[in-house]
Amino acid sequence: MPEISIIPEDICAAVVTPEAAFMAVEGVFAAMVRGEARNFPVVREALGHADALYGFKSGFDKAGMALGLKSGGFWPGNMASGLTNHQSTIFLFDPDTGQLQALVGGNYLTAIRTAAASSVSIAHLARKDAKVLGMVGAGHQSAFQLRAAVKQRAFDKVVAWNPHPEMLPKLAAVAAELGLPFEAVDREALGAQADVIITITSAFEPLMMKGWFKPGTHIACMGTDTKGKQEVDAHLLAAATVFTDEVAQSISIGEAQHAVAAGLIHEGDIVPLGAVINGTHPGRSSVDEITLFDGTGVGLQDLAVAQVAMRAAQAQGMGARVTL
Ligand code: NAD
Repeated sequence: MPEISIIPEDICAAVVTPEAAFMAVEGVFAAMVRGEARNFPVVREALGHADALYGFKSGFDKAGMALGLKSGGFWPGNMASGLTNHQSTIFLFDPDTGQLQALVGGNYLTAIRTAAASSVSIAHLARKDAKVLGMVGAGHQSAFQLRAAVKQRAFDKVVAWNPHPEMLPKLAAVAAELGLPFEAVDREALGAQADVIITITSAFEPLMMKGWFKPGTHIACMGTDTKGKQEVDAHLLAAATVFTDEVAQSISIGEAQHAVAAGLIHEGDIVPLGAVINGTHPGRSSVDEITLFDGTGVGLQDLAVAQVAMRAAQAQGMGARVTL
């Protein structure tokens, strides 16, 4: 009789640290490039109800022996009733038998694995002397992004812009907690000051134009995870070296979809970040190069952090265990 672990949101938050998420995501990006981990095609559909997008992300990591799926999506009206807009649950299965191993709350893990992805990109691609962090976006994910990013470089200031300025004070409070000065600026000023920029919005049109970025900037585009979404000028991708979690997603649902469709870049120009982690691609080649990470969000990231949660919860005797 298989024993199943049930690990709710509060236990995930208690047992999965940003550092553990970083290691898990960095490891699975590398395994993808070695051909040891594979994402399966994503299902993502508009429900025609509650304005929601719903779907599945799944995959198998043979290196980490993680098999499963994340089921969930985006309900834009949730915030009004005190819930986060993203809602998801992760299912882990035993790769040897197909039996269910764990049901894991996916909301905290989605935020922490997405923040880990941009953080991994900053660790491997940003200039070592980066000082100013620019945040475009101030929603639920932005605080996780900020907390993870500041661990990678000795930032001494955060500049931020959001299409809804009333959301910025919450992000300012996180910067204050991290001991960093915070300034709300306009978009051109953000591009002119920031050495590293994270975009994490629900935009469907470019918010940041190519001419606004400094040479040497690293940009992590994290909001575009669906066909039609866009956060930066497609011409920026032609001027930058573009890295991604997974090329197939980058060109179909990621930030690169627009530059590829316009013929500004080609699929072969986009480098999986795992190649930099594995040392088969050099990553940044000069101090003036603009590097852009197109973080589309892959199912293997979810499985990697869910496995961390399952193992840590089991080791600490946390969560419920049921026998099917
Ligand atoms: P949220 O609803 O809490 O915040 C939305 C953010 O987008 C806010 O900054 C808001 O001001 C801005 N925004 C809302 N409507 C906009 C519009 N029409 N144009 C421009 N900006 C707009 O959402 P969140 O949980 O912080 O997620 C932000 C984005 O990140 C979403 O698009 C989500 O789908 C995406 N996301 C990506 C990944 C990934 O792995 N790449 C993972 C999770 C979330």
